[in-house]
Amino acid sequence: MADHYNFYPLKHFAATVAACMDLPLPETYAPPVAWASSILRERLGGAADRVVLYHADAVGQYIWQKYTPLFAPVYRYTSMAIPFLSTVESVTPVAHASMYTGLDPEGHGIRTYVRPELSCSTLYDEAVKAGKRCAILAMEDSTFLHIFTGRPIDYFAAANAAEIREKALGLIASDRYDLISIHTFEYDDAAHAYSPESKEGLNAVSIEAEVFADIAHEMQTFSGKHRMLLSYSPDHGQHLTEGGRGAHGSKMIEDMNILHFFGTF
Ligand SMILES: [Zn+2]
Repeated sequence: MADHYNFYPLKHFAATVAACMDLPLPETYAPPVAWASSILRERLGGAADRVVLYHADAVGQYIWQKYTPLFAPVYRYTSMAIPFLSTVESVTPVAHASMYTGLDPEGHGIRTYVRPELSCSTLYDEAVKAGKRCAILAMEDSTFLHIFTGRPIDYFAAANAAEIREKALGLIASDRYDLISIHTFEYDDAAHAYSPESKEGLNAVSIEAEVFADIAHEMQTFSGKHRMLLSYSPDHGQHLTEGGRGAHGSKMIEDMNILHFFGTF
């Protein structure tokens, strides 16, 4: 049987999140996955006023297919999974730019691994316009700290997923931010260095899933006070190269198909 590409391009991510928040977006954004935002809003009981978007870099859908138990911590706090299709090229700046601008790569201008500050509208710009407070928390030298820089939002960097966990728990506990994006790439690093299904790589998937679960657990403590949306949203996958390591950027199914999980509290 042939492999199949997932149906929804990543450019639908921004509007899907925005629809859950009642956040108006310019027409340049690809439309939301309307049935998904509608179901999530039903579960929220209205518009989300706290949103945390967790981006575990390079976790492909086939990792979920082959190693499903590793995602148990993600399942614990989520109730919906949507298959997405990464961008061409399937690299972090191209994919995250599409996720946060609602545009194809030709539209936002990042078509390969370059990391200029984006000049077009991003989800952060629209959130700030609507009076929302936003933060980006990412591992040092993250693409997020390059392409989304220059906005009136707060930026935090951390050395690794463990430090991200500590800082994320503090940011959520502070109850100051309406929208927080978190980016870790422990799996991406390990998969490049060892291979996508190496024990080091799979261990990193677990570490990031546990960080996600700890963040979700902290969010839950606010469930009487806020309507909260949480997502686990990788940007692309990785494939095994002939040299035995991991790589991505191609149109291979391993690089292109990813699975996002959404939860509500
Ligand atoms: Zn990578």
